[in-house]
Amino acid sequence: RYKKKWAATAPRVPSTRLALQSFDMNYGLQLKEAWPSVRVSLLCEQKYGALVNSFADADRVAQELELLNAVDFISGAAQKAQRLQQDSAVEQAGRGSASREAPGERWAVKQAETPPLLSAPITSNIRCYTFPRGDITRFRPARPDTLGILNYYLMDAASLLPVLALNVQPDDFVLDLCAAPGGKTLAILQTGFCGHLAANDVSISRTKRLHQILNSYVPKQIRETVCVTSWDGRNWGELEGGTFHKVLVDVPCTTDRHSVMEEDNNIFNRRRSKERQMLPMLQLQLLVAGILATKPGGEVVYSTCSLSQLQNEYVIERAIEIAETEYDISTRVEDLSHFRALFQDTFSFSSDCRLGELVLPHLTANFGPMYFCKLHRV
Ligand code: SAM
Repeated sequence: RYKKKWAATAPRVPSTRLALQSFDMNYGLQLKEAWPSVRVSLLCEQKYGALVNSFADADRVAQELELLNAVDFISGAAQKAQRLQQDSAVEQAGRGSASREAPGERWAVKQAETPPLLSAPITSNIRCYTFPRGDITRFRPARPDTLGILNYYLMDAASLLPVLALNVQPDDFVLDLCAAPGGKTLAILQTGFCGHLAANDVSISRTKRLHQILNSYVPKQIRETVCVTSWDGRNWGELEGGTFHKVLVDVPCTTDRHSVMEEDNNIFNRRRSKERQMLPMLQLQLLVAGILATKPGGEVVYSTCSLSQLQNEYVIERAIEIAETEYDISTRVEDLSHFRALFQDTFSFSSDCRLGELVLPHLTANFGPMYFCKLHRV
């Protein structure tokens, strides 16, 4: 009897198509009328940012990039914050002199009116250049300086937002729990603030790429201070709990842009469906480990490059619950809405993300997706 060898002969559905089918179903419901625009942007060429390497001749690099018409979107946001702060101070002074509240009431009114923007300004030494909205010029590949250090690192500029949200302060102990290949680790180092930086990634091969990036961008005496490990991050809290001021948990996810564009290493490959289904659980375990690794009073930033609520807000909610019920650790979600106000010239933000912020790919600003949310360990 002839037995059809369907598994070998049936046309193979590309993983990119499976990804798009899944996104059409889920994101169509989640993003509603915004989905067609996000979808087409995901399928078009993504934009990059050039993270200036402060360990190279940074001022010269910045000048060269400015000659190309690129702008440092971080200093642009810092200037905007300052302007808004001044405007608000003037407005409050005007209102204060006009109002007739009792003396004790003045402070309370001011507190209630102070937007989060003013209580959390952008202070960072990180410089990253992007071409303005609608400008799709590409950056040239990075070049080495006379000491062999590369002058800039090309990355999705939205990937810097979680690092900025981490708000590293002088002498902070910082943990990058899922660090490879190392774009965000490099950005953290650019702040020049870390008292100690631990960069971990479970994958040995990806940790090699992290070493390569450190070797290409960071002078020996500084990279030797970075503690690179290849542990399963889920166990970190038990190994080294309550140690860090700042923890970045940039988890593995469905990498939405990659999944609709590249067959190689695609998580929508049928052979990886179990791994894909288990992602939210892995993300949750990593975030809980990140919370446990943080000192009381410290902060954790969770990030993904997925639009999925199941991998974003739901993971946050569940981690807060587990930290509370299983470890008696209270956390609160920080308001990051000032990021939306400060960076809206560069990125397109979702206006209805319940917890944290979400950068949506847009044809005129084709960065992201990038979800980030900050938790404060009480
Ligand atoms: N932060 C990196 C960057 O900016 O270049 C990207 C990180 S990538 C989104 C997620 C990483 O998590 C992958 O490199 C993967 O190897 C790592 N990973 C997956 N499971 C892990 C685990 N259990 N513990 C630690 N790292 C893990």
